[in-house]
Amino acid sequence: MPKVAVLKEFNESVELQEYPMPSAAPGGALVDVALGGICGTDVHLRTGHLSVPLPLAMGHEGVGHIRALGEGLTTDVEGQPLTVGDRVVWANNIPCGSCYECLVLKEPTLCLNRKIYGINRKASDAPHLQGGWAETISLEAGTTIIKLPDTVSFEEVITLGCAGPTAIHGVVENLTIEPGSIVAVQGAGPVGLASAMYAKAMGAAQVIILGGPTSRIEVALKIGAADIAIDMDTYPTAEARLAAFHEIAGQGADVVIECAGIPSAVAESIDLARPNAQVLVLGQYTDHGPTPINPHLITKKQLKVFGSWGFSPAHYVKYVKSLPQLVKNHDLASILSVYDLENVNEALADVASGAVTKAALRPQTGN
Ligand SMILES: [Zn+2]
Ligand SMILES: [Zn+2]
Repeated sequence: MPKVAVLKEFNESVELQEYPMPSAAPGGALVDVALGGICGTDVHLRTGHLSVPLPLAMGHEGVGHIRALGEGLTTDVEGQPLTVGDRVVWANNIPCGSCYECLVLKEPTLCLNRKIYGINRKASDAPHLQGGWAETISLEAGTTIIKLPDTVSFEEVITLGCAGPTAIHGVVENLTIEPGSIVAVQGAGPVGLASAMYAKAMGAAQVIILGGPTSRIEVALKIGAADIAIDMDTYPTAEARLAAFHEIAGQGADVVIECAGIPSAVAESIDLARPNAQVLVLGQYTDHGPTPINPHLITKKQLKVFGSWGFSPAHYVKYVKSLPQLVKNHDLASILSVYDLENVNEALADVASGAVTKAALRPQTGN
């Protein structure tokens, strides 16, 4: 009887619940989870800041081994043969493919009918094992399953489990970063780190990270995601940060990537930008309300301001393809703190407090 972490009530502890092992769905697969990542979004899910069904099977990031293949499923998304025991990752969402956003706008991240493991799948509905914080997950037909390259570990994949494809969508696909570009990244959580690493991969001459706490800033520098850091603890006010930033970057950044998730960071991003710069607002997943900005500066500086919401299965495929090169340049696994699945509530608390940069749950096998 595999266990899955279930949220029954908002603000309550997450409970492990056992369900009978289902058979693999036609066109789908059963995967024994090796690691289930914890994302900042999970903290907001638990507190009811996002509208999700209860009881919720939690975990929208995961990697593992194929346990069983459903009838008709023989290859991964790229046509590589799949067999029992293969190491895989899956995109957590399945866009409907038939709504206006999917068909006409061709923006599956905006699809309102997306099925998302760990976010809108009820644990009480069969096949119950619908989240990645589980010993086994049941993936349905239409899930994008990706066989992992041999050179990439489970830990490396899950460290940027959501952040990596989010940065592929927002940074790699939306922004123009050229050799010589100065890039400012606000926020040193996983999305900030991933954005900084991709900015470097795209040729940025200098990546300056602004964030905190100090432990996260140290991680960003240690793994080479950023060249220079402006620590929130040393520069606690926007004025102080701006003065320190302009001392390094002169007129400002060619590209500013907001990954802080705090509304006031968006006002600050406009100040960090040089004239004609690009500003990407990537970190505002949760609605924390309005903030005063001076729109005159957007016009006067002729800024290009973008937003980007989550990621599609295609972004996940690109993320996995980028990993062999990314792990050569950055020690991703060193960022990860691993907890036993039984200690899910402790892990969630540590993510919420910022005590760890990135956490993942390791299920105990034996089901
Ligand atoms: Zn996430
Ligand atoms: Zn759709």
